[in-house]
Amino acid sequence: MLTIGAFAKASRLTPKALRLYDELDLLRPARVDPDTGYRYYAAGQLERARLVAWLRRLGMPLARIREVCALPPPDAAREIRAYWAWVEAETAERRDLAGFLIAHLTAPPRRDPTMTTLRLRYAAHSDRGLVRPANQDTAYAGDRLLAVADGYGPAGGPASTAVVETLKTLERTAEIPAGDVLNLLEAAVQDAALAVRDVSADEEEAGSTLTAMLWTGSSLALVHIGDSRAYLLRDGGLFRITHDHTVVQSLIDEGRLTPEEATSHPQRALLVNSVTGTAPATPDLRLHDARPGDRYLLCSDGLSAVVPDARIRALLSAEPSPEEAVRALVAAAIDAGGPDNVSGVVADVVEVPGVG
Ligand code: MG
Repeated sequence: MLTIGAFAKASRLTPKALRLYDELDLLRPARVDPDTGYRYYAAGQLERARLVAWLRRLGMPLARIREVCALPPPDAAREIRAYWAWVEAETAERRDLAGFLIAHLTAPPRRDPTMTTLRLRYAAHSDRGLVRPANQDTAYAGDRLLAVADGYGPAGGPASTAVVETLKTLERTAEIPAGDVLNLLEAAVQDAALAVRDVSADEEEAGSTLTAMLWTGSSLALVHIGDSRAYLLRDGGLFRITHDHTVVQSLIDEGRLTPEEATSHPQRALLVNSVTGTAPATPDLRLHDARPGDRYLLCSDGLSAVVPDARIRALLSAEPSPEEAVRALVAAAIDAGGPDNVSGVVADVVEVPGVG
């Protein structure tokens, strides 16, 4: 048996840390003297003490450390890998936000001497596909709002329509300062959930995805919930800018499934997050700085599930107008069997003469 002092020295932890681990139930002493309260440790506990210290340095939450320490080494290793994959995904998201904020705060006022202003040029298209009896998708594009919603359940069609109609009220808001736009979008999604509740009052399990962008004049505010997607074609590269809220994506994030395995997973369409009338919606929200030449695609999973990214990139790059691009993409999904409703919105950021 080692005294707490000797154990601290051997494990390179402080007695204070060891007392804390004891209180947190991460590492109990092997014996506590009933008279003095003095803690004693077994030499065999050194390994666990070091593991706890390393995991704390990694930033792992205490509850999860407790779980990891209880696992045999191969399972503990898998848990750590899953935790780290999650940290990296989380960090990437925050890095994007930080990048946007830095650009936003340092950018000179966007009014150049040629007096040009940015606008959207857009087109939307939706098709029932070849298999489904009805089209429950809703696609919309206007001067300020782009939206795709994919309804499910008995009232899926009315649900996706209600969601997009609710978002359209933002188009009528006079001027939206970039600083307020995310709050407005978040509030609109909560309103959309109430609208879904109204249309699905007597039905069970009706809901909708929503992937939408609201134009502020210099940036696009993205709101996203579910497994519809947004892509950006910039400088010839295609970037997916949304994260699917699906069971399968969660498994990929946790390192339990590879993206290749996901494409054939039986539960690949199971959502973990959507706009429903039964729970508050928790959308992803972020701002994208618009650049002339950018082309955005919003689409339902009926497109992204059957048209590979490389084909999406090729069609978006080749087709000159948003109208031709969105028609070509929907046609590609139909050619691939059209197993689901297919919807897309394509929008270009263009520079036009005149003061904005
Ligand atoms: Mg769908």
